[in-house]
Amino acid sequence: MANPMGKNFGNNSRGQEIASDVQELKDRGLFRTFRVVSGPQGPEIIIDGKKVLLMCSNDYLGLANHPELRDAALKAIEKYGVGAGSSRLISGNMELHIMLEERIAAFKGTESALLFNSGYHANTGIIPAMVGRGDIIFSDELNHASIIDGCRLSFAETVVYPHRNMNFLEDALKKSVYRRKLIVTDAVFSMDGDIAPLPEIIKLGERYNAFVMVDEAHSTGVLGERGRGVREFFGIDNDIDILMGTLGKALGCFGAYAAVSRQMRDYLTNRARSFIFTTALPPAICASAIRAMDIIENNPAIVKRLHKNIECLSNGLRSVGISYISEQNIPVYPIIIGDAQKTMTICGHLFDEGVFIQGIRPPTVPEGTSRLRLTVTAGHTGEHISRCLRVVLLAMEKEFFNGKKINRKVPQGY
Ligand code: PMP
Repeated sequence: MANPMGKNFGNNSRGQEIASDVQELKDRGLFRTFRVVSGPQGPEIIIDGKKVLLMCSNDYLGLANHPELRDAALKAIEKYGVGAGSSRLISGNMELHIMLEERIAAFKGTESALLFNSGYHANTGIIPAMVGRGDIIFSDELNHASIIDGCRLSFAETVVYPHRNMNFLEDALKKSVYRRKLIVTDAVFSMDGDIAPLPEIIKLGERYNAFVMVDEAHSTGVLGERGRGVREFFGIDNDIDILMGTLGKALGCFGAYAAVSRQMRDYLTNRARSFIFTTALPPAICASAIRAMDIIENNPAIVKRLHKNIECLSNGLRSVGISYISEQNIPVYPIIIGDAQKTMTICGHLFDEGVFIQGIRPPTVPEGTSRLRLTVTAGHTGEHISRCLRVVLLAMEKEFFNGKKINRKVPQGY
């Protein structure tokens, strides 16, 4: 049979249009390609056939290939099979979905929780469920793309406030005469590694009668002594209207949740389109996510190990004079390079030397702020951290000092 995608596929004016768009991305150093991982995730992985030290994953607690999570998934497959077969509201609502929601609610200290198929689904579903035409959203300028897309999909007016600027936010709230108000923020900003001033945001929400929604993608399992997230970190007891988080980062799995009141769960079940109109999560992933929270709860050493590694890498970067922009307590170290091409060149040097730190470019980050987004996990050892420091230093020397040695040494003890 003739191949319908024959050799002339795309060779027409529409194809040329796409080719020229692709070329433009390449010219601007913004074209993205895949690397391929063989085998499981971990502190060292095989990628494009090469064993490298992985220093850019969000698997913050090293759970993605944990034997107990694997075991939970295998057992669930034996009992429940692979797929859920339909959406939750048709015939796909399986015991494990309910068990996982109850586990999340207990872990986050909320009345209940509702699952979403990913963080992207959650943000693009919850925001339009909460607000629409005639309403207003206040969104931090560095919020994740899925929040931005959720705002766009809602048709509500959106005020983008300067990063963590509470005076601006208060002024905007004061002036607003809209029907319903929603403040939405990342808890930990994923590309900058800093923390939203949540106590102030909650106060403003109360004062101006605005709903508050917080994205805990990078704080659950990370912040707080017990890894419970941003409320534990700040010692906040009161409820946040919507505490959204993901299962694919520190929990090592896939999927997302809104940890909310029972009433809000009922509301979102009926109003969030990305919840209603999609096939339910596979049962095996739910079983693994439950096990992940059991591990974090029963084995506090794992969160402590992450915190120790954060301290170790922060001290190491500081001592060799590599500046990064994040705060303490966060396993994300953005090393700003600026130019997109240059960022990718350094990323290439690092890869050649056996360390994978992905370069992050626009539109993920603002123009002119391309960066290496270095991360550390509980799975890294002291040897991994010192190797990373040596290689980062070497790559910086190559790019910024034309190979000339700069007089910095990685101190002993990492
Ligand atoms: N919110 C934030 C802050 C994120 O960093 C991400 C993932 N990069 C998401 C939401 C989306 O989550 P998921 O990967 O589960 O779709």
